[in-house]
Amino acid sequence: MLTATRTRVPTAATEPGKPHAVVIGSGFGGLAAAVRLGARGYRVTVLERLDAPGGRAYVFRRDGFTFDAGPTIVTAPFLFEELWKLCGRRLADDVELRPMEPFYRIRFNNGETFDCSGDAATMRAAVTRLSPGDVDGYEKFMRASEATYRVGFEKLGHVPFSSWRDMARAVPEMARLESYRTLYSLVSKYVKDERLRFVLSFHPLFVGGNPFTVTSIYGLITFLERQAGVHFAMGGTGRLVQGLVSLIEGQGGLVQCGQEVREIVVKDQRATGVVLASGQNIRADVVVSNADSAWTYRYLIPEHVRRRWTNRRIEKARYSMSLFVWYFGTRRQYADVPHHTILVGPRYRELLDDIFERKVLADDFSLYLHRPTATDPSLAPPGCDTFYVLSPVPHLGSGTDWRQRAEPYRQMLQKHLASTMLPDLEHQIVTSHMLTPQDFQDRLKSFRGAAFGLEPVLTQSAWFRPHNQSEDIDRLYLVGAGTHPGAGLPGVLSSARILDTVVPHANAIV
Ligand SMILES: Cc1cc2nc3c(=O)[nH]c(=O)nc-3n(C[C@H](O)[C@H](O)[C@H](O)COP(=O)(O)OP(=O)(O)OC[C@H]3O[C@@H](n4cnc5c(N)ncnc54)[C@H](O)[C@@H]3O)c2cc1C
Repeated sequence: MLTATRTRVPTAATEPGKPHAVVIGSGFGGLAAAVRLGARGYRVTVLERLDAPGGRAYVFRRDGFTFDAGPTIVTAPFLFEELWKLCGRRLADDVELRPMEPFYRIRFNNGETFDCSGDAATMRAAVTRLSPGDVDGYEKFMRASEATYRVGFEKLGHVPFSSWRDMARAVPEMARLESYRTLYSLVSKYVKDERLRFVLSFHPLFVGGNPFTVTSIYGLITFLERQAGVHFAMGGTGRLVQGLVSLIEGQGGLVQCGQEVREIVVKDQRATGVVLASGQNIRADVVVSNADSAWTYRYLIPEHVRRRWTNRRIEKARYSMSLFVWYFGTRRQYADVPHHTILVGPRYRELLDDIFERKVLADDFSLYLHRPTATDPSLAPPGCDTFYVLSPVPHLGSGTDWRQRAEPYRQMLQKHLASTMLPDLEHQIVTSHMLTPQDFQDRLKSFRGAAFGLEPVLTQSAWFRPHNQSEDIDRLYLVGAGTHPGAGLPGVLSSARILDTVVPHANAIV
């Protein structure tokens, strides 16, 4: 485990004369927010309930294996570089981001494979092999993806959407880009082959969105990957977490683990501090919550001071899918298994209907298999492999009792992996650990155990999403997956960047 080294007293950063910012939660959104607030003159205290920082990017070590619990695919590295630059440092001095080529392998249910590459010519050749009649349509889709990226990521990803006018200004461009369409429908307009439609439309699943309902704006991810690459942090994603913690400490800030916030103190509709589970009060000039947005409003702020994010609205909102993740180490290496593989199941739309709409735990699945030791063997003992396999499943609204279902579900995944990519798996496992939707709720405090916060549907995006500058409480700000622009590392780092626009500079705090 990352050791909980941040437990020294005092609980809050002390630097007289500087306004105090408290950040609740040390996910990537919270850590990035802390760096930005530190750079803007605040003394910053990050309060994290777990025993180590990172949130979904928590790192645990077992039997000599190192597991990144969550994110493994690093896109938009420039957003990390910006944070290092703010501190007068270079990301490359602290973390090696290794470009992945190919980005990942897609393995269809019949065993055929398709490698997604960052190189345009290689990708064109792969599309030609898969579906020669779709090459022109594919090129057109890539141009549409670029146009969406220029607007959706470069322009709108950093707009706070605090006012409906921001939304009104964005609508004409969004209409021009056909954002009213779902991503799958846009992809289908350009290409006919169902396998290629999968290749070009599955990306929103990385951020909790259903390609059959999510706005086609999420088609920008394909271009973002080509433009900025897909990377792996050598030593694991935890290196980025450690790097950010050291930036915060270098600024004089504190990252305090094992400190749960019980309540955000609100006086005259203004956030004035927090109360810890221990009962300790910490005063703050600004409070930033990186805890799940629904959880923040529902459980950390009394309902009588909330006008927009009432309990009823929170209950009625749609939440993203959850995940079942099985982490395991093997005593042998599977040298021909790539770093990132997506194993497509027999059903696409119907499976996602089960997960997102009907909320039933199906007997079939599509999986993401992570083998970091393909790139960095130091993450396992010599001759061994580190893995995790992730299966999208319904959130806790399904009523699934994961205490009963987890082990049979794990066995089902193990059997499938043994018969497809990891022969003899059942005899090779030396360490094993599971994360279920129940853990997303109980451990990470995610409403309904959703893995990616509010579902990214059009009616819950931009102005309709919980704002980065709270609509209800002055001097309260939100970052992370459940606020604008949304989940995924680029999304949560962008949410922190928006703070530069909406949080007053420390000099302006009275
Ligand atoms: C298994 C998995 C794989 C993923 N893979 C990728 C990937 O490859 N690439 C990618 O870009 N994205 C990926 N994602 C998505 C990405 O990891 C998340 O969207 C992102 O990390 C969420 O960051 P966040 O800022 O919202 O904070 P979180 O990571 O959600 O952290 C919030 C923190 O707040 C803390 N907290 C909550 N309540 C309190 C409280 N009351 N007091 C104190 N602390 C509190 C929690 O303990 C937690 O540490 C993945 C997600 C998962 C789950």
